Amino acid sequence: MPATTLQGLAPSRAIARPDIPHAVRGRFRRLKTALTVVLLGLYFLTPWLRWERGPGLPGQAVLFDLPGRRLMVFGLEFWPQDLPIAAGMMVFGAMALFFATTLAGRVWCGFACPQTVWSDLFFAVDRLIVRLVGKGAAERRLRTVAWLLIALATGIGFTAYFIDAPTLPGRLLAGQAPATAYATVLVLTGTTWLLAAYARERVCLHMCPWPRFQAALLDRQSLVVTYQHGRGEPRGRRRTPLRPDLAGQGFGEPQPTGPAPAAPRLMGLVAEAVAFSAPEPFPSLRGDCIDCTRCVTVCPTGVDIRRGLQMGCIGCGLCIDACNEVMVKLDRPEGLIRFDVESAPLRPLLAPPRVDWLRPKALAFGLAALLALGFSGYGMATLPPVSAHAEPQRNPPFVQLSDGSVRNDYALRLAHRRAGLAEVALRVEGLEGAQLRLGTQEGAPAPVLRIAIGPDRSLDERLLVQLPRADVPSGRHDIAIVLTDPDSGAELARLPSYFWGPER
Ligand code: SF4
Ligand code: SF4
Repeated sequence: MPATTLQGLAPSRAIARPDIPHAVRGRFRRLKTALTVVLLGLYFLTPWLRWERGPGLPGQAVLFDLPGRRLMVFGLEFWPQDLPIAAGMMVFGAMALFFATTLAGRVWCGFACPQTVWSDLFFAVDRLIVRLVGKGAAERRLRTVAWLLIALATGIGFTAYFIDAPTLPGRLLAGQAPATAYATVLVLTGTTWLLAAYARERVCLHMCPWPRFQAALLDRQSLVVTYQHGRGEPRGRRRTPLRPDLAGQGFGEPQPTGPAPAAPRLMGLVAEAVAFSAPEPFPSLRGDCIDCTRCVTVCPTGVDIRRGLQMGCIGCGLCIDACNEVMVKLDRPEGLIRFDVESAPLRPLLAPPRVDWLRPKALAFGLAALLALGFSGYGMATLPPVSAHAEPQRNPPFVQLSDGSVRNDYALRLAHRRAGLAEVALRVEGLEGAQLRLGTQEGAPAPVLRIAIGPDRSLDERLLVQLPRADVPSGRHDIAIVLTDPDSGAELARLPSYFWGPER
């Protein structure tokens, strides 16, 4: 693939952008690498964590059990009716993202977004292969194999959240996995290949909606990656003499080369940024930027940050590392490119970034995130241990037996998520003399019915409630079906219902 060229707004010269961004060392590179390792490790290893739940229950710590319609996360089990908790967590995630963006710009995009993490992995593999075999046909073949393997591992890794991880690879190979597992592996392999191997920065530049509306979250006090125009301009060759106000590391007031030292507006006012940063073609004195283009060649999205904040900048900080490397070699102070507030050019050159944490917007998002987290946390702490329903069967509403007693049938659905609960006891309140049994049960009914719960902790049965003739009420009579733990006697659920007798 030929190197692409940045044109149009290029200030002094077209910059040849490499296929694979150049490697760089520095603080943000180390942070990104550490986060990539942690996040990829979490993604691939989480399904392999085990959690003992008891006989007959899945031993996978985090499992989306679709047939059982539940999500198991260590000791917690979520059912479809717990959706508000998931909604709370989603609101928390969104508010936390807004909060982080308001304070520190696109840190999510630059460090933790899956597209960034996987692209970073693919870039690292590409660089390694080029280093091992050089450029050419062998490199292309090796890259293709490596991409395919990573994409396949990603697909299997994702599927392992839904099917027992240790047995999944074997079942896939033996052709014994469900068809949905093969489909999921195929789709995830394909999308990983497409997005991380081919689309890469195009996802951030053209496909992702997040940069489009994040501008609404940023303001002049948000930390963003900034080029210090006042210090860097006019850029020139290394041997060009340095501006006297910068020489000797004495930093005075900004020395703008453009018309006005106003900071470039966020997103879109690139023209202003260009006017501000456009250098003289052959300056007799230069600022700290030697126009080495290193900050551009390490950038995963090919942005020239010297033109001002742009939609393509994902805030990864790699250009900061690259420029710091150059500054150290030039024996100049670091920070020509740095995380700073957008209004930084209006302040003295090396003044440290000043972030106003106590802004209404940041406070509002932070508070909303805490509230959503509190809501979900409370929901998790108070998850009801039992879900039970007893639906009266109305066709017919009652059955008169040969000895004159009357029986009502109920469709009983029961599920629980309490560790160690193998049985529940059922009784009827509000109906003196009521006897119970299950539809599938032989033998006489009893006032208290003990039911063994299956290994999947759920039960779907017909419950029969029977009353001797003498005690049968006329018409409808309100009752409560009460479920208790037979060991502790603790009430697990109380189901309001009714018993129907013949009208008298
Ligand atoms: S790395 Fe620094 S010195 Fe080199 S072009 Fe970028 S801003 Fe200028
Ligand atoms: S300009 Fe490029 S390298 Fe610099 S922070 Fe933005 S995306 Fe990263």
